[in-house]
Amino acid sequence: MKDSLTTERGFLAGPQFLHTPGPTHVPDAVREAMARQCMDLSDPRLATLIADCERGLARLLGTGQADVLMYAANGHGAWEATIVNLAAPGARVLVAGSGHFAEAWAVHAEALGVEALRTPARPGQALDPALVEAALRADTERRIVAVFAVHTDTASGVTSDIAAVRRAMDASGHPALLVADVIASLGATPFRMDEWGVNVAIGASQKALMGPPGLSFTAVDARALQVARDNPAPRAYWDWNKRKSDLLYRKFCGTPPQGLLAGLRAALGLIAAEGEDAVFARHRRVAAAVHAAVDAWSRAGALALFVADPAARAVSVTTIAVQPGVDIEAMRTVARERFHVAVAGGLGPYAGRMFRIGHLGDVHPAMALGALAGVEAALRACGIAIGDGALSRAIEALDG
Ligand SMILES: *Cc1c(COP(=O)(O)O)cnc(C)c1O
Repeated sequence: MKDSLTTERGFLAGPQFLHTPGPTHVPDAVREAMARQCMDLSDPRLATLIADCERGLARLLGTGQADVLMYAANGHGAWEATIVNLAAPGARVLVAGSGHFAEAWAVHAEALGVEALRTPARPGQALDPALVEAALRADTERRIVAVFAVHTDTASGVTSDIAAVRRAMDASGHPALLVADVIASLGATPFRMDEWGVNVAIGASQKALMGPPGLSFTAVDARALQVARDNPAPRAYWDWNKRKSDLLYRKFCGTPPQGLLAGLRAALGLIAAEGEDAVFARHRRVAAAVHAAVDAWSRAGALALFVADPAARAVSVTTIAVQPGVDIEAMRTVARERFHVAVAGGLGPYAGRMFRIGHLGDVHPAMALGALAGVEAALRACGIAIGDGALSRAIEALDG
């Protein structure tokens, strides 16, 4: 939910239900924390704020050894930091196909002169660790520097098994680093960086971490820092080994984004207060409710859950494929402008062929039910055929 706004049809009372898979609803505690006045750069409270964020993120990431480096940038900034630190132009990375975000990450690496090999994505399915193992075995010259894997691919709505990627890498005997994008999963579903053998994890503020966009981070282990030290490619702003410093002005390569950091600390405090396990359980319940509703809608044939295997479905976002001829962008406009519910469209090859309901971060069951009701109203208003009983099915799933 966010503040009321004036729409095409005039003023709509009440908060808008923001159900995109980022940005997400920002809780009041986070917004209030961000409204505080700025501090001078030598104020010890600023150093404490940064240390609290580093510690809270490390805890949520399940790492006791990696350095957490934060950026005044969105998730793409943290992608770029990772690429330029690990791979010089001409170097090679392997991107595990899981959907449009994995593909966009590969394209980003290519734009920086890095050669990006890909394992094929299987539509609606998690990434395939066996393909990663085969690609690494085929790399007899050991040219691949790192494997890039997206934990929750927000475009396809799948969550992949990152520990299985590490096992596949170890089975191949290849020394490549494992880099995981946890932008859409961290704070929604468990992630254990150290236990799963992840060398670099990449996150951002505006998804399950409940902040506005603009703050991202990487957790980098000693092996990855060494690869970065050995990488001769020129870089300044993103340089991990320069940012690995006790001086806060160096940590951020300039002035720290204090407002965003204050919001992040408040959000991490909310997660700690609720309890990580309770947060993850809440995400599972809400996701089950959304899946049940979409399953009921789908019975009329115009819509379908894109991820057939329930085990591969993300708890953060539900992707819904639409039959050709269904104008789903018009439905999204009606949902937003008439019913005050914002959901996302399809990305990449699925633009116009899919819509996505975000249910991550500061979402409780009644918010999800409200969003589902608003979407159902918009689907009906647009004459899109849907099965009955979706809300009842969603309520039942909340109990399950
Ligand atoms: C949102 C998202 C990104 C991109 O983050 P931005 O902040 O939009 O740059 C990257 N990867 C995944 C998995 C995402 O969900």
